Amino acid sequence: MKDALEKKLLHYTGKAIADFNMIRSGDRVMVCLSGGKDSYTMMRILQLLRHRARGKFELFAFTLDQTHPGWDDTGLRAWLEKHAIPYEVLNQDTYSIVKSKIPEGQTYCSLCSRLRRGIIYTYAEEHGFNKIALGHHRDDMIRTLLMSIMYSGEIRSMPPKLLSDNKKHIVIRPLAYCQEEDIAQFALEQGFPIIPCNLCGSQENLVRQKIKNLIDQLAKENPKVPSNMLHALTSIKPSQLMDKKLFDFKGLDKLQEFKEDLENSPALEFELDPLMT
Ligand code: SF4
Repeated sequence: MKDALEKKLLHYTGKAIADFNMIRSGDRVMVCLSGGKDSYTMMRILQLLRHRARGKFELFAFTLDQTHPGWDDTGLRAWLEKHAIPYEVLNQDTYSIVKSKIPEGQTYCSLCSRLRRGIIYTYAEEHGFNKIALGHHRDDMIRTLLMSIMYSGEIRSMPPKLLSDNKKHIVIRPLAYCQEEDIAQFALEQGFPIIPCNLCGSQENLVRQKIKNLIDQLAKENPKVPSNMLHALTSIKPSQLMDKKLFDFKGLDKLQEFKEDLENSPALEFELDPLMT
């Protein structure tokens, strides 16, 4: 059973890497290891895949100590050393910045993650890592999709591979096909020395929790719901949506085969009701 789970995670991670050409020979991959179950799993599975690939790419673990009260990385360092993984734990006090800028009672996450992202990109650039690996998994992706539709009015999620705006970094998410349930079980079996993620004292993201509950509830009735949602991200049909930038709805008339030739008839101009604009 133990091996079966490892095999499953290896299979899905390997498949995601191949499907999106995430890692190439000679890549220097900086693995962002937060100390949570997801990033430990990613680190371990990538290390096993690296062995299989006879070390054709490099792995380096990067941990950011944001000086949250109670932070203790002793177990993390020991684990990395036991597995002979090169690493750095960088100490940067983003916690004080976030505390001073965000009023009490509001969630810190948006500023905190922006600061963290900046530090990660800078570190990767200064140390010559061309790929940055993040531990988001299938369930993060589908929750983000639903949150974005419901609360931002956009169809978007977390891409498995992303070129940063300045074109200097490629971010990869090798666990894109892996289920959170499997990752949690694997983390338990492996006994990863987890660093708790509530040290920052930020409120739990209630919206994300509600979305999780909603998907979990639907999955109880139909277990295929999460995998169907992930599949939806790979199967977009612009002609069945309403985005005029992706599909030429106006130009459809030109393609219509109709016995009377209406091609040259002018389009009608309507006065738009201000309420509809
Ligand atoms: S949960 Fe805490 S550490 Fe994580 S992004 Fe939010 S503020 Fe930062």
